[in-house]
Amino acid sequence: MDSGRGTGMDAGRSAGGDGPVMDAGFFVAWFEEAARLVRRDHERLTALDAAIGDADHGANLDRGLSEVVAAFAGSPPGSPGQALTAAGATLIRKVGGASGPLYGSVFRQMGRTIEEPVTLARFAAAFEAGVVALERLGKAALGDKTMVDALVPASRALALALRDGVGAREAFALAARAAAEGAEATIPLQARKGRASYLGERSAGHEDPGAASSALLMSALATVAAAR
Ligand code: ADP
Ligand code: MG
Repeated sequence: MDSGRGTGMDAGRSAGGDGPVMDAGFFVAWFEEAARLVRRDHERLTALDAAIGDADHGANLDRGLSEVVAAFAGSPPGSPGQALTAAGATLIRKVGGASGPLYGSVFRQMGRTIEEPVTLARFAAAFEAGVVALERLGKAALGDKTMVDALVPASRALALALRDGVGAREAFALAARAAAEGAEATIPLQARKGRASYLGERSAGHEDPGAASSALLMSALATVAAAR
């Protein structure tokens, strides 16, 4: 890691009046923690995908995030935007399933959009832009039983946290909870997008694997923010 850039949310460099800023090291730590959680839970993710898809989601994401972490180790990103853009490009390139390009587009758009120094408000704006890019690429809306069902509530939770003047740590914890609730709420739904939609009514009764992995990504964010 490029130690000259600091290693996280530096309370001494507050910008924009909404709390500490997040540097490149913060985003590297986010992907490292996400990779750890997905590795830990890859069997659960694959089991969810076995029920309504093709049983590769855990392996897909485990491989993709490991590649992201390895790429960061080989060439540390110099800025949050670089970290996000590189992570997105790696996921698009290395993940075979639909989730690679979809997650990749979230992070690439975040990286293109994010203004620095990164405050909570700027993070939330870039995250929302990433989710919009995902919705545009996948043409999925809330309730279609996809990762959108976890990421849109997370994005909304960040917007509400900002409105309420909540700090970054609590905001990310609220976003993680919203994503987990959104993922759980996919269980009774019938899939309207992706492989699971081929099952029609039989897709109901199972949590969507992509929504479950999105909840892990947001949980990783909350953990990294809480540790800084
Ligand atoms: P594949 O379906 O190609 O095997 P994965 O198993 O890695 O890819 O990912 C499946 C997940 O991708 C689904 O659970 C769902 O959350 C997400 N997904 C699939 N299609 C779409 C879409 N059109 N829009 C948003 N998310 C989607
Ligand atoms: Mg699959």
